[in-house]
Amino acid sequence: MSDVARRFVVGTLLFLAAGAAIGWLYDRPALGLMAAGLIALLWQVRQLLSFDRALRTGNFDDFRQGEGIWEQIFSRFRYENEKAARRKKSYRQLLREVRKSTNAMPDGAVILNEENEIIACNRAAKHLAGLKRKKDRGQRVDNILRDPELTRLLQSGDSALTVEMASPVKDGDWLNCRVVPYGADQKLLLLRDVTERIRLSKMRRDFVANASHELRSPLTVIAGYLDSLADDAAMPPSWEKPVAQMQTQARRMRHILGELLELSRLESAGKDASDEPVDVRQLFEEASSAFAGHADIADIVLDVQSTALLQGTAAEIETVVVNLLSNAVRFTPKEGSITLTWRSDADGADLIVTDTGEGIDAEHLPRLTERFFRVDKGRSRDNGGTGLGLAIVKHVLARYDAELMVQSQPGEGSEFRCHFPPERVVVAPPVALS
Ligand code: ADP
Repeated sequence: MSDVARRFVVGTLLFLAAGAAIGWLYDRPALGLMAAGLIALLWQVRQLLSFDRALRTGNFDDFRQGEGIWEQIFSRFRYENEKAARRKKSYRQLLREVRKSTNAMPDGAVILNEENEIIACNRAAKHLAGLKRKKDRGQRVDNILRDPELTRLLQSGDSALTVEMASPVKDGDWLNCRVVPYGADQKLLLLRDVTERIRLSKMRRDFVANASHELRSPLTVIAGYLDSLADDAAMPPSWEKPVAQMQTQARRMRHILGELLELSRLESAGKDASDEPVDVRQLFEEASSAFAGHADIADIVLDVQSTALLQGTAAEIETVVVNLLSNAVRFTPKEGSITLTWRSDADGADLIVTDTGEGIDAEHLPRLTERFFRVDKGRSRDNGGTGLGLAIVKHVLARYDAELMVQSQPGEGSEFRCHFPPERVVVAPPVALS
């Protein structure tokens, strides 16, 4: 108990005792006690009413502060009241600063609840995506920004995933979108203008495609003359080797140009791969038969565990199989073995090319699908590699929402696994037995 409280209790008791004593002088101690009690009670009621008024108006100065314990209660309340007011002011100031800084951000930020309904957004979200702060509050963001990629992003719940969508306010502009969860069940949709980056990458793609296309015709003429020269009986013997070398290099250049054009086509083709049912077993058989009869390559084993068909374009899936298989052949000694596996389950299907070849160091694995990346440039070139094969594989797979996973141990071999999602897999009806 505090000193003031103790004084209040002692004072009240003394007051009551004084009342009883005065009553006792008149031979009425009980009456004296009751009268003192009533006076004490009325005093407390008066103080309580003052206090209630002060609480309601928030003004503690216009009231008598009372004495003793009431003085303490009044001043404590005044202190707390002023503190709360100061805190409110500083929060309001902070809120103003946060709003100012989010409005100054060049990226759009939209706060969403669990149902993807808009709680708030900054000024950039208005410029970039046309969101209106007051009108769109409480609306589902995917009802306002209708884009399949954004819907996919919101459904995925993956904060590392980013998608690009066409700007809903300006033709030709592009937005990069990302969703970051925060708090209990809120998320932040971040929108960034990537028009410039997309324009540059399109320029690069067009340049590569145009240059490859332009180089093709002169190269065809040069290769044609070289072929005629090689067939010419009058050619001096000392020219034979250089001409043969020039023919090899011309073939290599045509191969590289062909692959660059294929990459450009895949890059601009987007994700609308067709849906024809592709028999992977047949592709395996055709691809491996191309190597049949070569004594100096490793054995190729087919391991087809599923009759499921893959929905896509046969020529594109064939490109994947041929690229992975030709890599396996080139990087596996003839004593080794190569296995082509096709299997499926509820999670989708796997097309796997495994070899017992030279393998790849872990440090190179993340870079394998980069254009022109080769672990050993000289060797790859010597055995006919362009450094574009795995980049093509990656682009084909992206069109099918499929993923390339590589596992490898130097000296032991490699596994290239293409995982296709269930939507791409059609389970073939069982073959009727007669
Ligand atoms: P390349 O035409 O050079 O084969 P790719 O893009 O197909 O180009 O492959 C890139 C590099 O990855 C290759 O140069 C090679 O170093 C490595 N690589 C690809 N497949 C294999 C494999 N099965 N075994 C070992 N290394 C491989």
